[in-house]
Amino acid sequence: MVSTSGGFTAQAFYQYLKEEKRLMGTRCRACGNLAAQARPMCPACHSTDIEWHQFSGKGRLSTFTCISIVPVYMAAQGYGRDNPYCTGIVTLEEGPRISALILGVDGNNPQSIKAGMDLVLDLEEMDPEHPCPTFRPA
Ligand SMILES: [Zn+2]
Repeated sequence: MVSTSGGFTAQAFYQYLKEEKRLMGTRCRACGNLAAQARPMCPACHSTDIEWHQFSGKGRLSTFTCISIVPVYMAAQGYGRDNPYCTGIVTLEEGPRISALILGVDGNNPQSIKAGMDLVLDLEEMDPEHPCPTFRPA
């Protein structure tokens, strides 16, 4: 179990992702505003009456970039100039947007990747040393 006694922190967000394979954000109890990150204060009404909210993991690709100059830990997974990886902004079905790694698409063929395509959260292949929200085509 993730201990959330430390509050609504990025550390807790990544612990949920890594240890429980859950995409958690925060929900404002005062106005219902959802954030796909750990926000201790509501950006809409500034309430601090916040609770954790688990997202379904369904979303759509909004924008994306294919990256061929890769960090060392991504190179270790076989990515690089000949095999770019894709990152993007995913709009979750609940509304918030989140920056994510997109797997299962062809980074060498960006025309094949379509904004608006349905995605699902898939944390099975996530690097535990570098956890990040990871999606693949639904
Ligand atoms: Zn609020």
